[in-house]
This record gives sequence, structure tokens and C-alpha cells, in this order.
Amino acid sequence: MLVLEIASGLREEGYAIDLMSSGYDVAKRMGIIPQLEAVQYPISKIENVNERGERESEMNYDLFRRFQKGRLLALMRGDLERELHTALSDDVEIRYELTIDDIQQCDSSVTVLLSDGTREHGALLVGADGIHSRVRELAFGDEREFLRYLGYHTGAFIFEDEAVYRRLDGTFKNLTVPNRTIGCYPLRDGKLATFFVHRTPVRERPDDIRTALRRTYGGLDWVIPDILDHCDDVDNIYYDQVAQIEMPRWTWGRVTLVGDACQAVSLLAGQGASLAMGGAYVLAHELRQDGPIEETLAKYEAHMQPEIEKKQAAGRRAAKWLFPPSQHHITVRNIALKATQFPGGAHLLKPILESGTESVVEGL
Ligand SMILES: Cc1cc2nc3c(=O)[nH]c(=O)nc-3n(C[C@H](O)[C@H](O)[C@H](O)COP(=O)(O)OP(=O)(O)OC[C@H]3O[C@@H](n4cnc5c(N)ncnc54)[C@H](O)[C@@H]3O)c2cc1C
Repeated sequence: MLVLEIASGLREEGYAIDLMSSGYDVAKRMGIIPQLEAVQYPISKIENVNERGERESEMNYDLFRRFQKGRLLALMRGDLERELHTALSDDVEIRYELTIDDIQQCDSSVTVLLSDGTREHGALLVGADGIHSRVRELAFGDEREFLRYLGYHTGAFIFEDEAVYRRLDGTFKNLTVPNRTIGCYPLRDGKLATFFVHRTPVRERPDDIRTALRRTYGGLDWVIPDILDHCDDVDNIYYDQVAQIEMPRWTWGRVTLVGDACQAVSLLAGQGASLAMGGAYVLAHELRQDGPIEETLAKYEAHMQPEIEKKQAAGRRAAKWLFPPSQHHITVRNIALKATQFPGGAHLLKPILESGTESVVEGL
């Protein structure tokens, strides 16, 4: 198997993800849960604070873990990528700093023209190249046909700042004001990770993301001015639209897609990585049955489609509670979270905390 990757190597930058449901199950079948447990962040709560840094409510992460029946790991995206990479078998070749410029296919094979001018042939081309997939563009056309913009932009970066580290006091904290949320959490080795989500009617990503972040979040108090000061000294800032990819079909002959390329659910659903791992497993499972390729890929799509639609709809419904548009929504969220601390109160959040436990690999 040949993997073509546009980056120059494994990427350390990124944000925290919850690995759960399908992702957890696939990791278990790969035998890498102990390795992931070794690099996870054993979060017990996420605090919502005001601009003075005072706690207004908290999300009990242990409760979330209980509702997920223990199948939940909080990981940095880079750590997950590295552990998956380590687990690859020897027959997988990875070539970095390469992308695909053209795809040609016949009944029995597919040929790709690479960005270095060389060509490669194979039985199947799988585009696992994320929400702005190049393979999808070449095979199915412009991304605007498939991308549903959800009205938010997001950014994230990793930085070092002793004073901010001390002020977090070992806790994952979020500041939410209407239409803007900034999270900050401590990592190992004195590092910190931060993420930003804000509502904007403008779909396009700004040309200068550092200026855009400073302009959008400047003026907020707590540790925000210190965080924004680091926009200039960090090498990598992740910045993107919050969006979903909706495709009725994502197979064209011997070309198919997996993960965000065909099924991005967005950070609102919070399960994109888990679903991507689940999708890859389902595709591999169908390929192992050794049937005719059209049938194999059709079965893979049919297996995935209902779960993708369900998770995308759930993500859209969660938007106003995850990133509240008004002070009223923030207050209601805080009251609901406080209620979970009382006996029986946890059941108020049961539908949310339990949602997404379904696994696409169950029974395979
Ligand atoms: C702030 C934030 C928080 C999130 N939280 C969660 C969470 O809690 N749980 C969760 O499960 N998911 C979460 N997600 C979503 C999750 O990160 C994605 O759904 C997941 O990474 C999708 O995996 P993927 O492999 O399909 O795509 P990606 O992770 O985007 O990987 C695509 C790969 O393809 C490469 N590539 C891109 N273009 C090309 C090209 N032209 N040629 C060659 N290679 C290319 C990229 O370099 C990359 O290695 C979150 C996302 C964000 C932004």
C-alpha cells in the first residue's frame, strides 16, 4: 500500500480530540489502547469561566466517560496520528510532500499523476485527505457543491507561557461570550493548547489568520490578551471554517473517499476522527470480502451513510449549546451543567452525554 501525504512528516500541531465510539473500537482491535492510554490527558472536568477567570459552571468529564461506558480517551490529534503511524505494518510506504494532480482509470486499475511529475498505478485510490480533499475535487468537482458551512470559524495552536500555565491551575478552561468561545488547556512539558470558535457570516478563511484572531478576540479579558500575544511566535496555527461535507455517493469507479473528505461532521459533532477511523475499518472489512469492486464500495457507502447523517444532524442541533449565540443561552447552559452536580441531575444531560456511543464497526 502506498500513502501520499502533502505534509513534510508527522504533524505535532493541532487540538484535543475525544476518541470514542467507532474510533475507540478500532483502536482496541488494532491493539493500541495501552499506547493511547499512555499519551491521553486524564481530564476530569472542563470549567466554563467568565472574563475574570471565575468558574461559572463545569462539565463533569468523568460523567461523560461513564455515559460512554469508559470508551473515551482525550488525546491531542498529533499523539493519535503518531500512535496510528507507529502501528502501521511494514508493507505500507509513505511518501511525504506529495499530492495528486490527475486521476485516470480503466476497468481494472487507476493511475494517478503525482505533483512531482511521476505516475503510480493501483487497484483502488482512497482519498483520505480531509475536508478540503484534493481527490474529491478531482473526482467529483468543486468543494462548494458538498460543503455545508455551519456559520463558524475555528482556530487552534500550541504555545508556551508560564504565567498562563499557572493561571489554568491544571484545568481545561473555556471562556464563552455570545458568539465567541476560547478554550485553553495544559499539556505535558509546560505546553498549552488553545482553540477559538466564533460565529461569522463570512465563509471564506481570512488571508491573514493571525490578524483575524487578534481582531476577533482582542478586547476580551482573562488570559486572552496573553494568548493572542503568542499568535506571532508560534509556527503553526490551524484555522478553518466549521463545516460538514454532504455527499449522497462518494465512489467513482475505482476511486473512493474516507473520513472528513466525504463525511466531515465538524467539531460540533466532536466525532470526526472516530468516524474517520470507523469508516476506514468498514472499507477495509468490505475489501477483505474480495467481491467485485463496485459491490464492495457500494456496501461500504451504504454501511456508513446512515450514521454520518445522524451525527451531522446531532452536531448541527448541538451548535447553540456548545457555542451559545446569546447571554441567555450561556445562562441556560450554566444552569443545566450545575444541575448535573445534584443527585439525579445527570439524567438531564443523558441524551447528550450518551449520544454517539453507536459504533459503525460493531458486529463486523
Ligand atoms: C478544533 C477541533 C476539534 C475537534 N475535536 C474532535 C473530537 O473531539 N473528536 C473527534 O473525533 N474529532 C474531532 N475533530 C474532527 C477531527 O479532527 C477530524 O474529523 C479528523 O481529523 C478527520 O480525519 P481525516 O483523516 O479524515 O482528515 P484530516 O485529519 O484532515 O487528515 C487529512 C490528511 O490528509 C493530508 N492531506 C490534505 N490534503 C492533501 C493533499 N492534497 N494531498 C495529500 N495529502 C493531503 C493532510 O496533511 C492530513 O494528513 C475536531 C476538529 C477540530 C478542528
